Amino acid sequence: MMSIFIFKEEHSLDIYVRPGDSLWHYSQLFGIPLQLILDSNHGINPQSLTVGQRIRIPGFITTNYHIKSGDTLWAVSQKENIALEGIILVNPQLNPYYLYIGQIIKIPKRVTWRIINGKQDYDYNLMTNDIGQLLAVYPFLQTTSIGNSVLEKNIPEVQVGSGNKKVHYNGSFHANEWITTPIIMTFLNDYLLSLTNHTPIHGLSTFPLYQQTSLYIVPMVNPDGVDLVLNGPPANETWRKKVIEMNRNSEDFSGWKANIRGVDLNDQFPADWEKERARNPKKPGPRDYGGEKPLSEPEAIAMANLTRKRDFAWVLAFHTQGEEIYWGYKNQEPPESESMVNEFSRVSVYEAVRNIESYAGYKDWFIQDWRRPGFTVEVGKGINPLSLTQFDTIYQKTLGIFLAGLYL
Ligand SMILES: [Zn+2]
Repeated sequence: MMSIFIFKEEHSLDIYVRPGDSLWHYSQLFGIPLQLILDSNHGINPQSLTVGQRIRIPGFITTNYHIKSGDTLWAVSQKENIALEGIILVNPQLNPYYLYIGQIIKIPKRVTWRIINGKQDYDYNLMTNDIGQLLAVYPFLQTTSIGNSVLEKNIPEVQVGSGNKKVHYNGSFHANEWITTPIIMTFLNDYLLSLTNHTPIHGLSTFPLYQQTSLYIVPMVNPDGVDLVLNGPPANETWRKKVIEMNRNSEDFSGWKANIRGVDLNDQFPADWEKERARNPKKPGPRDYGGEKPLSEPEAIAMANLTRKRDFAWVLAFHTQGEEIYWGYKNQEPPESESMVNEFSRVSVYEAVRNIESYAGYKDWFIQDWRRPGFTVEVGKGINPLSLTQFDTIYQKTLGIFLAGLYL
């Protein structure tokens, strides 16, 4: 798999309006759906473009080309497989009749490869860097911060799609289940690739999904915890001492699920929180401690606030492991939860499980308070943290779930 880095926004494809141009014309010229160009240029009025106005074209980057002996723009356009007009558009100052050897011109290049690599130890920095790269190439994405972690990292949310149906996916509620973050990010990248290249996934055209659905992704709910598992304790000596003590004086954090204060974020929600507390540890530690009260932790508060604000039709929380999908909560789930989980199960071969002895989780709270479908998807098999050797298998099995979450 080819991978490239786009360090700055300037490398994405910007063009400048000429007299008589229209977004429709750009859509035809670059083969990008008009809706995606509109959504990449918020605040512009497509009926009255101004000459010289900057327009961002999604799904393309610009590369430099060095003019060689005998080159004409036509020859370059043939060689680079890009419309001649596209080259002229990104080089507005260029005189096509006066090229010289060694001259550098810009070439629009259609992005047909993944720009992120999820198959690595995927910490918070990698994720934020990847979100920045995706934004540069796919400006129809929108991102916001839903709040800060205990160690004051922004928790990003990425939105894709322009439909009325609002769907939410999240990953890494649990620190040592961090593989769910690069799995979700890889799906996001593949969805974007499919949209701008008109390439179906599993035989499914994705542009209708974009039009029907707004997908809201929080790829890493627990950034401090993920970084603790992957990179060890924070440099700050006070925090370092604290987490090692909570970890029973061990510096092996592979069993750590909680946030940096030793609170399990998926035991923090006001859905029989007291019952969950009764069966769990009473003090902070690597896992299962639900805090002194529901929603005491900033990461859980951020998720609760987001969920209240967005009014999601359904939510999918990705965890590891077990290859199971939990879909019920005290018979409060709506009837469509069952048909939905059957579809998720069919496409992933994961087992649908209605109820388990567990409370105070995010999906429990969502089902309880909204009476809408909520799911916990337990990906992969083995001992957490799952090895990256499982990455491809997990992705292959969950891809259908990601898609079904949009088409259902
Ligand atoms: Zn989990």
